[in-house]
Amino acid sequence: MRGFAERADVEEVTSFLLAHASGRGAEPVGLHDCVGRVLAADVHADVDVPGFPRSAMDGYAVRGEDSFGASEYDPLRFELIGQSLPGRPLEAVVERGQAARIMTGAPVPKGADAVVMAEVCEEEDGAVLVREPVAPRKNVGAPGEDIRAGSLVLSAGRRLRAQDAGLLSSIGVGEVPVVERPRVQLVITGDELLPPGSRPDGPRIVDSNSVVLAALARRDGAELLPHTILPDRPEVIADLLATAPADVLLVSGGSSVGQEDHAPRLVAELGSLDFHGVSMRPSSPAGVGRLPGVPGTAERWVFLLPGNPVSCLCAYEFFAGPVVRRLGGRGEAWPHRVVRLPLARKIASAIGRTDYVRVAIEEGAVVPIATSGASILSSTVRAAGAVIVPRGLEGMAEGQEVDVLLYDDEPPR
Ligand code: AMP
Ligand code: MG
Repeated sequence: MRGFAERADVEEVTSFLLAHASGRGAEPVGLHDCVGRVLAADVHADVDVPGFPRSAMDGYAVRGEDSFGASEYDPLRFELIGQSLPGRPLEAVVERGQAARIMTGAPVPKGADAVVMAEVCEEEDGAVLVREPVAPRKNVGAPGEDIRAGSLVLSAGRRLRAQDAGLLSSIGVGEVPVVERPRVQLVITGDELLPPGSRPDGPRIVDSNSVVLAALARRDGAELLPHTILPDRPEVIADLLATAPADVLLVSGGSSVGQEDHAPRLVAELGSLDFHGVSMRPSSPAGVGRLPGVPGTAERWVFLLPGNPVSCLCAYEFFAGPVVRRLGGRGEAWPHRVVRLPLARKIASAIGRTDYVRVAIEEGAVVPIATSGASILSSTVRAAGAVIVPRGLEGMAEGQEVDVLLYDDEPPR
């Protein structure tokens, strides 16, 4: 065994990743599948919405100026010439002194320019009495008032929301180009591992990293390829590294400098091991490399994630997460909500090292969780989030305001 000769800084690794990772190509998806995906091209409308003058009320379509002078005591009488319903317009023209019954969403007939609401009208022998004047254009939605033909409705790079899909539908678009999801291959290594769903058995432990990594990668927009647990046998690991048709390979375990740690050497042999060993805690044995493309992929990213569950999660968040998001057209920034709160106790760190500290939030203050071993997965379960101590600091003082990256999307109930 040999130690790490030198370790890279977190920032160095991150800038390398961002300098080399760019978005994947585009694929068309239907509107029911587009929400949460990233739009790959600008979308312009080629129609007006609405495409016709549209009634905003149930009532009577008239020429507004004909209603001037109408009042409660002196209602004006209009000849009723028919009705306009949504999708079933009245073809006749509304002339002076005439009215047409109309429903919300129905086209306002030619000749009419306003809608008097039903509440101030009364029908009587083929006529309608109007008790309130209505100004021209009142209660009528102009063509294009929602969307104008030719306008830019959504820009490339937009993460589509439910209402965006609705808007696309309203302009007659049924399919949009979105950035392809990055494909992620989990490479879970360890002779001691039993598959999820097993019970721990003597010296054999149940793989938890695959479960965590799959969920984090999906959160970041990835599509997961199937995987199995691999033994610590170099030829088996090499085979998957050489052939996996993925954009990103996440290697869990066997990534450090121990005798069963084959992945770093294999990555260096098959492609390039760009970094191995980072000045951080946990996850210092983490590594980053690139492997040549296989049919259907460009050059492939490979992340060496230490097997210890907290290190594995931490290394994913620092290095793999930003790349997965970038490839899928999302921003590289961490997706966590951030709150700024004072520290209840100081956090000790060391200059030159970046720390990922699990913290609880108690009575509005940030409490570092004492058990900080990288193997203690439950520390991340008890934690509300993490505080990152940058490498330039020796620590953070009690009372100092710090940013907490929250694990939960929603505020606590
Ligand atoms: P390694 O990085 O392979 O040296 O593993 C470091 C520690 O993490 C060891 O205690 C392993 O048993 C544990 N470990 C490795 N892989 C996993 C995994 N997939 N799930 C949970 N623990 C793991
Ligand atoms: Mg191992």
